Amino acid sequence: MLNVETVRKDFPILSRKVNGQPLVYFDNAATSQTPQVVIDAIVDYYSNYNSNIHRGVHFLSQEATDKYEIARQKIQHHFNAEYSHEIILTAGVTAGINLVANGFASILKKGDEIVVSALEHHSNIVPWQMLCDKSGAILKVIPMNLEGELVMDAFEALLSTKTKLVFVNHISNALGTINPIKQIIKKSHRIGAAVLIDGAQACPHIKVDVKQLDADFYLASAHKMCGPTGVGILYGKQQWLTKLPPYQGGGEMIDQVTFEKTTYAGLPHKFEAGTPNISGVIATGVAIDYLNKIGFDAISNYENELLTYATNQLLAIEDLKIYGTSKNKTSVISFNIGNIHPYDIGTIVDKFGIALRTGHHCAQPIMDFYKIPGTIRASFAFYNTKEEIDKLVSALFKAKQMLS
Ligand SMILES: *Cc1c(COP(=O)(O)O)cnc(C)c1O
Repeated sequence: MLNVETVRKDFPILSRKVNGQPLVYFDNAATSQTPQVVIDAIVDYYSNYNSNIHRGVHFLSQEATDKYEIARQKIQHHFNAEYSHEIILTAGVTAGINLVANGFASILKKGDEIVVSALEHHSNIVPWQMLCDKSGAILKVIPMNLEGELVMDAFEALLSTKTKLVFVNHISNALGTINPIKQIIKKSHRIGAAVLIDGAQACPHIKVDVKQLDADFYLASAHKMCGPTGVGILYGKQQWLTKLPPYQGGGEMIDQVTFEKTTYAGLPHKFEAGTPNISGVIATGVAIDYLNKIGFDAISNYENELLTYATNQLLAIEDLKIYGTSKNKTSVISFNIGNIHPYDIGTIVDKFGIALRTGHHCAQPIMDFYKIPGTIRASFAFYNTKEEIDKLVSALFKAKQMLS
């Protein structure tokens, strides 16, 4: 059982006021809030052992290197990866996707096919389009249905010996749908395609086991799981990471450099050119410890309770329509009220200190599918409460009155 009042005390931002009202933060799918232990870890780094890693023989550099590598191992264990060098630390999910897409440019041939889903974030569409331009590969899209689920029969029909890569998000950021990735991975492997899963929206809610899933690549973002911004986690199977060429050249990723030829460092350093976000990575390890201490079962049970409660309360508002109605979804609710523009509602609700997201949520193809300009999105985390949901509902009633 999760004690939300105790949990809330861990997050200093939750006691601030916005527009004279206590903050109600329902934009967790864009970025999560940061507990004091994570903030402390960042302050501790800069106060006590700020120095560059993997280089100096001096004391501070050793200390920073040790803590950085311990964080990598923590991430490895959390995701149940076989080796710590299968964990590549990047600047974010976007950076990780680009790293993989760039690597595949030298593997794919003209006429090869890449399959993505209709539920993708722009960061999981644009890099593949760029890859297709570079390699002559063709992009195929798994369609979605009105509930916001992927159509699995259509997915199977897309697969052939030409399919080399399949990219799907674990959970849709715009609708909250949990995709059947285990099935997708299994079916893709049957025809020899590699699978990359964008787990940006899953990792805050569930404990992911990459070995059990058998994913070839899996991505997560620290800032969506109570960690700092600017840290991404890219898990890749050793065999794939060895095959892919490095993404960026620079310091830290080399073995020997001469003007005739440069040889690259081994994993994971081959993919980590330049000075990384040292404090951020160490703080990400602390964030993962923090989430595990609360427990992912407790987190998802409580968030499901919030989701059911909020869905029922919101549907009491006349003309409110929810987009994404799969039975398998996380605590994300995308909705519109009548023909009122989402932005107008977001602006009024903000006056009540309530943070919502409005717009296309970096997933324009989904909005086109529903023929709407965007939605209002409320996304809940384990530190939100039912009282906050009540505040949202009453603010929405007021906004609706003002706007219609
Ligand atoms: C947030 C998000 C991204 C982008 O992640 P960054 O770490 O901010 O680059 C990609 N995909 C999904 C599904 C997301 O929710």
